[in-house]
Amino acid sequence: MALLVQKYGGTSVGSVERIEAVADRVLKHKQQGDDIVVVVSAMSGETNRLIELAKSVQATPDAREMDVLLSTGEQVTIALLSMALMKRGLLAKSYTGSQVRITTDNAHGKARIQDIDTEAMKSDLAEGNVLVVAGFQGADELGNITTLGRGGSDTTGVALAAALKADECQIYTDVDGVYTTDPRVVDSARRLEKITFEEMLEMASLGSKVLQIRAVEFAGKYQVPLRVLSSFTEGEGTLITTDGEQSMEQPAVSGIAFNRDEAKLTIKGVPDVPGMASKILGSISDANVEVDMIVQNVSIDGTTDFTFTVHRNDFEKASKELHAVAADLGAKEVLQDDKIAKVSIVGVGMRSHAGVASSMFKALAQESINIQLISTSEIKVSVIIDEKYMELAVRALHSAFKLNEPDAGVSEA
Ligand code: ASP
Ligand code: MG
Repeated sequence: MALLVQKYGGTSVGSVERIEAVADRVLKHKQQGDDIVVVVSAMSGETNRLIELAKSVQATPDAREMDVLLSTGEQVTIALLSMALMKRGLLAKSYTGSQVRITTDNAHGKARIQDIDTEAMKSDLAEGNVLVVAGFQGADELGNITTLGRGGSDTTGVALAAALKADECQIYTDVDGVYTTDPRVVDSARRLEKITFEEMLEMASLGSKVLQIRAVEFAGKYQVPLRVLSSFTEGEGTLITTDGEQSMEQPAVSGIAFNRDEAKLTIKGVPDVPGMASKILGSISDANVEVDMIVQNVSIDGTTDFTFTVHRNDFEKASKELHAVAADLGAKEVLQDDKIAKVSIVGVGMRSHAGVASSMFKALAQESINIQLISTSEIKVSVIIDEKYMELAVRALHSAFKLNEPDAGVSEA
């Protein structure tokens, strides 16, 4: 008998039919003897609808009232699902975030969980109830309703699993797992059986949208085994855990992530003296713009070039800042390009395989794709290329690292 936290996202509870299907699935697990805590999102589209509704009344809606409004989405789902469970003869009980006593700070719209009281939940579980908890919400010390930020139900699921020491946190969604890359770009993309928290975190921050980044961080920190599965089909999904597909034959690369979220800025001909990086990037960060990749060139004539990337949404802002800094420092010129893409290979196996980066560069060269910037970490290599070639690059890398081939013969340690 296991204690499972099952989180169902918006599309999985998007209609009464879907809610009934969730109830059938919960019933099946319950009949197998498992204890189940269900966390649900609002029905798909509902949170967006509520946001629009708010904006039609107040252009910049009050943050506290916004949370009161948005938390209703999940409240609808917990009640409907509990009814569907009762109809099947199960004992079920719904909980809002504040009823569970998910205590958060008071940062409305992006609250962080501080504490979860598990006592009531444990005694309800012991009585045989299925608990149905509203995702995405909590309450601050004073009882004000708070929400955790978009996609926050994943975080609720993981946090409950951590607090209850559940055996697994299962995230049910509309895809049947984590893939080697986006199957819409590469037909032969393959579902991974297992992946590590570290890899998943990189995949998520680099553009794979399967899981909320914060939920993966949370799960890694508390070592909560996470499983991503589809609520539309049967299957094992992908298990995200500490050791991944650990074996002697650990493939060097587990997946390929990509995005068109960044833009590149270059300041040329900056005096090559101490303090320049801090002046340039300091002004960018003072403008509240986050910088991702940074490259500084060697100086040949006493000046140096400096290139960095920012989120595309911050492109205008960063460009304005950089032009001001350039005038200030007497730099030669500013170049900028927002038609770039970032493509990354990710895998804990890189640690023990030499030459992974050079295989990547070779595969790109064979397609005549020019690399503009490179950054590496222990478990990833990212390149910036012209966005025109993004899909070509992803396909070339997917086949260069043989990601379409199931790791036949790989034995699990
Ligand atoms: N309903 C919220 C949202 O749409 C939370 C979630 O679905 O995870 O962002
Ligand atoms: Mg969602």
